[in-house]
Amino acid sequence: MKQKQAPCWYQSISGHPERYPLDQIIYRCPHSGELLEVRHDPDRLSSRKPSEWRELFDSRWGASSGTHASGVWGKKEWVCPLVEDEFIVSIGEGRTPLVPAPRFAEKTGSADLRVKLCGNSHTGSFKDLGMTVLVSMVNQMMAKGAPVKAVACASTGDTSAALSAYCAAAGIPCLVLLPKGKISTAQLIQPIANGAITFALDTDFDGCMKIVQQLTEAGEIYLANSMNSLRVEGQKTVAIEIVQQLGWQVPDWIIVPGGNLGNISAIGKGLLEMRAMGVIDRLPRLVCAQAEKANPLYRSYLNNFQDFEPRVAGKTMASAIQIGAPVSVRKAITVLREFDGIVEQASEEELANAAAEADRDGLFVCPQTGVALAAFSRLLAKQEIKPGDSVVVISTAHGLKFVDFKVKYHDGALAGIKSTFRNQPIELPADVDMVRKNLDDLLPPGVR
Ligand SMILES: *Cc1c(COP(=O)(O)O)cnc(C)c1O
Repeated sequence: MKQKQAPCWYQSISGHPERYPLDQIIYRCPHSGELLEVRHDPDRLSSRKPSEWRELFDSRWGASSGTHASGVWGKKEWVCPLVEDEFIVSIGEGRTPLVPAPRFAEKTGSADLRVKLCGNSHTGSFKDLGMTVLVSMVNQMMAKGAPVKAVACASTGDTSAALSAYCAAAGIPCLVLLPKGKISTAQLIQPIANGAITFALDTDFDGCMKIVQQLTEAGEIYLANSMNSLRVEGQKTVAIEIVQQLGWQVPDWIIVPGGNLGNISAIGKGLLEMRAMGVIDRLPRLVCAQAEKANPLYRSYLNNFQDFEPRVAGKTMASAIQIGAPVSVRKAITVLREFDGIVEQASEEELANAAAEADRDGLFVCPQTGVALAAFSRLLAKQEIKPGDSVVVISTAHGLKFVDFKVKYHDGALAGIKSTFRNQPIELPADVDMVRKNLDDLLPPGVR
């Protein structure tokens, strides 16, 4: 009897043809040592016409309850059809706003800049998108008898927050390894509050990553870092959402801050799959934005990606991308080549001022998003991005997770950095005349 073809499976990015089921505990190709990726049966996906997929996804966007009330699971057929609805662990992820930043764009000379607010999410970062898929899959595996005791990750902060929330929601034990003293208070308190076993290790992210890989080798502790390609399937919905929110039009550019490089790989995968299915007919150019202090991919880009050298990441305020040995570097380079991609970098002062300037447009962006916005300005100045181009910057986390950074910026207390957009509270006695007088001096002239 011919075995029924699985709807999706793991396969190596090395090109090795062997397939592995998604409920197998495996993160790398045993033949090449390369990462795996999830592949979908193309016949299943072409069972609907491109216009039918667009209509289906549009019809689900507004769902107020059930599986489709999640932006990720509203695209379940493309993400992970193997998870049965009863095992889905969702906290309302996805369907995040795509907002214009007209004044920021005007000042830099481009008419059409939008910011995809992936941080408007349960734990405040895009990491929720991947974690709902991974934890749902583990939930199903455990229910069906897989000998998994806990799920674990190394993290620069946001991965652990997402993992601990989704595990807590599912009642699955969670273990997080964090670099001691290198993440924000808001990020540390999330796994603590969600009851995760939290180890603060005297090392950096790359050091935590090594240890978690060793801990998870035997399989009883399931690995939740983005080398686990289930997460990529959830994160790729960001690309689909952007196109959908633009009326199924493709922007000219998408700019993504990159650290471990899972997200840029995911966004590229989403776009390539949409094109393969005929849902879009062209690709945007992709930009990976790195902090100058932690820029191994940028260095490799300067050399046309001929080689890649991991290096110890320097300290950057964009702590979520302070990574020197990115796990998904091969995937990212493949994607960037496919998209005629660019890697740009930003200094500490540039990222801080770009974030603060965007906040003046009503946003409240994290330092990583500041890196992407600064890269946007640089590419405009270099005339890579042309004034009329449509550009989407991925905002990866909510600014509220990085209040220390914002407070120091407006206090003028960031060492070596000139806070161009500094704003300070003005202390006055409780006297209405004093308040009026100060106000008159501060308000712009004329009445609106
Ligand atoms: C994880 C993270 C990134 C980097 O994403 P990678 O997939 O590691 O490249 C950027 N910004 C924030 C806020 C993050 O949490």
